[in-house]
Amino acid sequence: RGVVHQICSGQVIVTLSTAVKELVENSIDAGATKIDIRLVECGSKLIEISDNGSGIEESNFEGLALKHHTSKITEFEDLGSISTFGFRGEALSSLCALSNLTVITRHKDNDQKVGHKIEYAHGGTIASRTRCARECGTTVILKDLFYTLPVRHREFIKNLKREFHRMVNVLYGYCLVVNGVRISCSNVVGNGRPSEVIAVPGFSTMRERIVAVFGSKQLSSLIEIKQTDAVPSEILSEFGLPEEAYERKYELEGYISQPNQGRSSNDRQFFFINSRPCDPAKISRVINEVYHSFSRSQNPFVCLHIRTNRENVDINVTPDKRTLYVQNEKILLAILKATLIPIFTAAAS
Ligand code: ADP
Ligand code: MG
Repeated sequence: RGVVHQICSGQVIVTLSTAVKELVENSIDAGATKIDIRLVECGSKLIEISDNGSGIEESNFEGLALKHHTSKITEFEDLGSISTFGFRGEALSSLCALSNLTVITRHKDNDQKVGHKIEYAHGGTIASRTRCARECGTTVILKDLFYTLPVRHREFIKNLKREFHRMVNVLYGYCLVVNGVRISCSNVVGNGRPSEVIAVPGFSTMRERIVAVFGSKQLSSLIEIKQTDAVPSEILSEFGLPEEAYERKYELEGYISQPNQGRSSNDRQFFFINSRPCDPAKISRVINEVYHSFSRSQNPFVCLHIRTNRENVDINVTPDKRTLYVQNEKILLAILKATLIPIFTAAAS
């Protein structure tokens, strides 16, 4: 059973980024306004995430790291109406099989003013449980990620820099989209002092958050994406859509590089659908194409938030929940193109 579980887990948590992403999402789901991430050796030795969220109820300790244990969904029909990030109850059980998991938590309704420290065995059962001091909230500690899968672990250590870089980028995504949540991340390498990787106060606008993450210099090379009110019929027909197809089903908010101010790599493109970070390949491709028709430089920086009714997206496509299925995606692509062309035209003149 142990082996089967580890193999399955490997599919849910394949990278450092997915591990950190799942833990950050749990903190956001718990209503945290402050999330502090502490890494040792880029996360390979230790990942510690502390939040000031609701904490975990004692009745949940037993099942916390067991597969399919979740406090977020009770009925299968709920799947359509979920607003939290998590809902599969797979993250902690996977992480527990792949590393040494310790949880320190105090639930907000716990009036004994004391927290609990729980160490879990790889199978997800409780190995030890002690009382300790803790403010309301939760600290999740992962030691030696992937060490239970020697081949994966070797690969992880070999590519540590790259995986760390990806993880920081994933964290940037949350920094850019979550409202009023302070996020910090530090890393310790060797005997050095902790270096601050991220320190973002809980701002409320995307503009402020871009400045906090990338600096005001970045912002000065960006233009705001102001959504068009009309999609010309040529663009509609380019996407094979009938004349009357445009509905304001999608609301766009964001920033993009000015023509000729783009950058060479693709790693500074951030997409969100209903506040959920995602990697929408087609959307990114259309943006890059339109950009290149105005610009000799490489791909643009993009920070794009798409809001739509929940029934227009299906988030349940891949285990990491980053690939979303958008209904009527062609309309969205047409809106994007019709929005970007006048913006770039104005910026270029
Ligand atoms: P899911 O998020 O899909 O429910 P997880 O395995 O990520 O599954 O987490 C299991 C459960 O552990 C959650 O449903 C939640 O009850 C609890 N939990 C995990 N992390 C936190 C946290 N930071 N704060 C409060 N509760 C948490
Ligand atoms: Mg979760």
